[in-house]
Order: sequence, then C-alpha cells, then structure tokens
Amino acid sequence: MSYLVDSHLHVTMMPYEGLQAMSEGGVKKVINCAIVVSAHHAESYFDHFRLITGFYRKSAEGLGIKLYSTIGVHPAGIPHDWTRVVDTLPEYLKLEGVVGLGEVGMNQGSQLEKDVLKAQLEVARDQKVPVIVHIPFENRLQITELTLNIASQVGIPSHLLVIDHTNLDILDKVKQFGAVPAITIRPRNVSLEVLQENINHFKDGMLNCDFSNLFPNDPTAVIKAFNYLKANGVDQAIIDNLTRKRAETVFNI
Ligand SMILES: [Zn+2]
Repeated sequence: MSYLVDSHLHVTMMPYEGLQAMSEGGVKKVINCAIVVSAHHAESYFDHFRLITGFYRKSAEGLGIKLYSTIGVHPAGIPHDWTRVVDTLPEYLKLEGVVGLGEVGMNQGSQLEKDVLKAQLEVARDQKVPVIVHIPFENRLQITELTLNIASQVGIPSHLLVIDHTNLDILDKVKQFGAVPAITIRPRNVSLEVLQENINHFKDGMLNCDFSNLFPNDPTAVIKAFNYLKANGVDQAIIDNLTRKRAETVFNI
C-alpha cells in the first residue's frame, strides 16, 4: 500500500490519538477544513486560519502527516462581519498549503446563508481554486438544488465544486452538474456496506471521515473503507482513486 488521503476533517477538534491512528493506518495527507462553531467575530476565523496553517500543521508533521487546509466561513458559525473574512480569503490562499475554500455551504437555506455561500463561490471562481461545499443531514435535496443553482449563477467551473457528504440521494444531481462528489464514511452518511454495494456509482468520488466532535464519527473511516473494499474484491484502481488519487488531483497536492 502506498498511502491514503483524507479529503475532509477538522483537526482542531481531534484528539492526538485520532491523528496518530490515521498515521498508523497509512493516511499521509489530509485536507483540514475551516470551522468556527458559533463564531461571532471575523477575528475568530483569522485566529482559526492561523492555527490550522501553523500550529496544527507542525503537530501533524510530527506524525508524518502532511496537513493541507481549506479556508472559509462555515455555516455553523457566520460572524456578523462575515464580509471581512470573505474579503481576506484571497490573501490566505497565497499561504503555502492552503489549497482551496471550505467548508462552506448552507444548513437551512436562509438568505444570509445564501449570501455567504455565493460570495465564497465567487472567490473560488476568481481565484480558480476548489471549494468544499457541505450538504446538511436535513432537507438534502432542497439544499443541494439551491447550492447548484447558486453555483450556476456564479458561473464557477464545475470541476472546482466539491459537493461533500454526497450520498445516493443526491449523487445523480452532483454528477449531472459535473461537480466532484465527496463521500463521508460514517453511520449517518455512507456506511462501508452502502459504499461497497454501490461502488460503481461512487467510484469517481473521494472519501473522508469529516472528523469533528459534533456527532459520532471515526478518524480511521478512510482506512476502514480501504480495507473493506479490498477485502470485498473491489478493483484496486477504484480504491486508489477514492482513497488518494481523486483528492490529489482536485486539490493539486
Ligand atoms: Zn466538516
């Protein structure tokens, strides 16, 4: 085995042992997505960006993991002065190891959420970087359609649009748009069994654990998926694409 890539997690919420288990299981590159739950001030994001591009990158390096970051305003914490964060994103994109925008998206589809998403998709379009857009647990079809409509209005090239937490319910819409499906492996999203049974539908996507402390999940989900797919005889090229190559290509890492 060469190594694995996890395309979405939140390192500031991880216990050290979580990152250690990922490293021991063969994960050597991760994409860390920005999130500041309940943020009220733009400064909360500025300090968070500093933390994920500095301190945590070094600590991951100590475990043999290259930590890349995406930056942006997460729907779980939209500061009152969010435009200040959006205006600064192009500057942060110049930092080494910052490979795109994320995690952005909507939970309810409110006007504020739509405005914040649209502004960030415009930055991704202008800066020509990939953007990781989250689809929530509830109202998934409605939020997916809204997201894709906003993406069309903005005119972002579809290959830069990563639709995360894709499951069978929205996969066709994501593919029709030409966006990149990202697949979160955990009981509330895609289980190992569902992944394997529908591997031909999922094969152009990229896997992640989306580790946070907001609900149950598993930092070793991508490792478990790799082993499960292999044990069930899935074509190695498909496994490599899902667990490494697709993310490396999309994020140019
Ligand atoms: Zn996330």
